[in-house]
Parts: sequence; structure tokens; C-alpha cells
Amino acid sequence: MEIPPLVEDGTALSAEELRRYSRHLALPDISTKGQERLKKSKVVCIGAGGLGSPVLMYLAAAGIGTLGIVDFDVVDETNLQRQVIHSESEIGKSKAESARNSILEINSFINVVVHNVELSKSNALDILGQYDLIIDGTDNFATRYLINDAAVLLGKPYVWGSIYRFDGQASVFWSDYGPCYRCLHPKPAIDVASCAEAGVLGVLCASIGAIQATEAIKIITGIGTPIVGNLIIYNALNTSFEKIQIKKDPHCVLCSDNPQQVGLLDDYEAFCASTIEDEISVYELKDFIENGRDFLLVDVRQPYEYELVRIPDSHLMPLSSFFEGRALASLPREREIILYCKAGIRSATALDILKSQGYTNVRHVEGGILSWIAHIQPELGAY
Ligand SMILES: [Zn+2]
Repeated sequence: MEIPPLVEDGTALSAEELRRYSRHLALPDISTKGQERLKKSKVVCIGAGGLGSPVLMYLAAAGIGTLGIVDFDVVDETNLQRQVIHSESEIGKSKAESARNSILEINSFINVVVHNVELSKSNALDILGQYDLIIDGTDNFATRYLINDAAVLLGKPYVWGSIYRFDGQASVFWSDYGPCYRCLHPKPAIDVASCAEAGVLGVLCASIGAIQATEAIKIITGIGTPIVGNLIIYNALNTSFEKIQIKKDPHCVLCSDNPQQVGLLDDYEAFCASTIEDEISVYELKDFIENGRDFLLVDVRQPYEYELVRIPDSHLMPLSSFFEGRALASLPREREIILYCKAGIRSATALDILKSQGYTNVRHVEGGILSWIAHIQPELGAY
């Protein structure tokens, strides 16, 4: 798909800027024209945390003309394990201010705008509307849906990233050219534990944040092929990357031709709170199996993981087959379906897809096979 440069006419570079950005100018795809586009562009990053750190630092270094930072939190010592934009001397101070100071140290040629507020229904369209491109560095579902909805309503590209333990995901949602976040997740399927509860490998932020910063630069300058319509799934332990095609949902409440939702929601917290009923615990699953209940247990991991270890009597249907539609063709609608994956993230995505296709009797296993191994069958051994 051809996507023209987000910024057409750039801003002329000074002699100092020509020297500073010489390694970009040497790239024929970027050259002076691309660098001028970067200078003209305005990018906002919501969250100056794990993902926001590499995103903001690299985009500042790259010469994005105006960088907006939305964050109302303060720096905590437990942030320093991954939020490399902050330093020990900033503990207790505003994250947005700390991030601004760091990136102006990297590049004083750029403008930095601090929004020391919580993004909300009342300010989202106003704040995000001031920028060309929106980057998500947050870690909660309510804000994610708010950003997505605002991006669709404003017609702006939304560069999304997410991290959990050793797993990361990224995509670019842009309703002019592909799906929005709601096309992928019509409803938040699970209340995923935050980094505080679940833990996260610090350097994972750099892997996913670098993808987000790269996509922003590609979109602004019009080079390469942005990951619009693709979901990138990265696992740090296996060093595996998957790139799965995702399609626009013709029935999406927000970005379809006949949207049911034409503005922001009143309460994003409430929208995200109603998801627990879709989960079952590993103890319930054990009861179901022991009592001979009639249901189909579906493993949505990759074949090699299924070979390594599996819950007895489960059927393998990798997540990709849900996106491609093969899973839908072979899954009965009249039978109870229970999905699981490694930790509960991929199964939540599969659950979303089934529910969006009208499946009603489907749930997924909270915590995935890791929880099953921890609580039910430790002899299987975790991986
Ligand atoms: Zn959509």
C-alpha cells in the first residue's frame, strides 16, 4: 500500500543542522528532503515511561521539530530499571519535565512541549489534535482506547506498543489506510496485570520503543512500508518476531463506514472494567476436565510450544489461524470453547476475534499454561 509522506513540505535546515544530521542526509531515502520533513513534524508521546523513554530520546536525536510529552506522574526509583530517560537526581520530580530536560540535552534544536496532565475525555482531542502523529507509551487499557478513539476521530496515525514480561507487541493503527485498535480488540478481553504486578524485562522497552520510533520516522518521511495492518509480536527469550496481518473490521464501531460510535466515550475506565467474566482459572479448568465436561480446549500458541508442553487433550490452533480465518472454519459454534496460550495475552486476542464473529460460548484461561504448570501440573515444567 502506498502511503504518501505525512509531512509534505519540510522546514529548511540551518548549517548547524546540516552538519548534525549528516548521517541521515547520506541516506538517499531520507536526504535533505526527509530531514526537512522531520524538522517540520510534530509528534506527541503519551507516557514518558518505559516505551516513551527510547521513543522520545531517539525522535529527539533524529530531529523531530516538535515533541509533545503527556505525563502527570513523578519519577520513582523503581522506574529507573527501564525508563532510561530519567536519572537518579530526578526521583520525585515530574516525569514530563524530567523527560524534557533529558531530550533537550540530546538535541537543543528541537521544541519540546510538556503536557503535565492526565489524558482524558475532556482534553484528548485538543492535545492530540496539535500533532501530526501520536505515539502510545502507556500501559493501561482505558488510556489506550481513549488514544485510539481520538486518533480515529482526528484521522491521525497512532503508533502503538505494548510490553508484558518478556513479550512485546507493536502496530500502527491508521483508519485512513488500515485497521484501528478497536478492529483488533473490539473490547478489552482481559485485565492484564500491570508491569508492577507482572514484571517486565527492562530492555524490552528499547526493542519495542525502537520499532515505534522507526515507524514514526518512516511515516513522516514517507519511506519504506509502515506496519499499518500488521501486528508485530516479539518474544525476547526466544528472540522471535512474528508479523501477522490484521484487517479492518467492516463492523468496527468506530472506523467502519457506518460507525456506531461518533465521539469519545464518557467513561473509559467503566468500558474496560467488564472483562473478567471471559476468564476461567486453571482450577476451574481442572474441574471441567475431571468432571468430563463437554468442551473444546484450544491451544493458540505456536506449534513448537505445543510440542514442548501442553495441557492434556488440547487442540493446536495457532493465533495466526484466527487472523487468517482458518480457525473460524473449523471451530463449532454450538460447543463450549476454552482457549489458552502461554500467559493469557494471545488467547485474549483469539477470544476477541471469536466474539467479534458471533461466538458466545467461549472463554480463555487466566494466566495460560504457565499458571496451569504453576498450580496444577508442576511436573510439566515451565518454558
Ligand atoms: Zn476500527
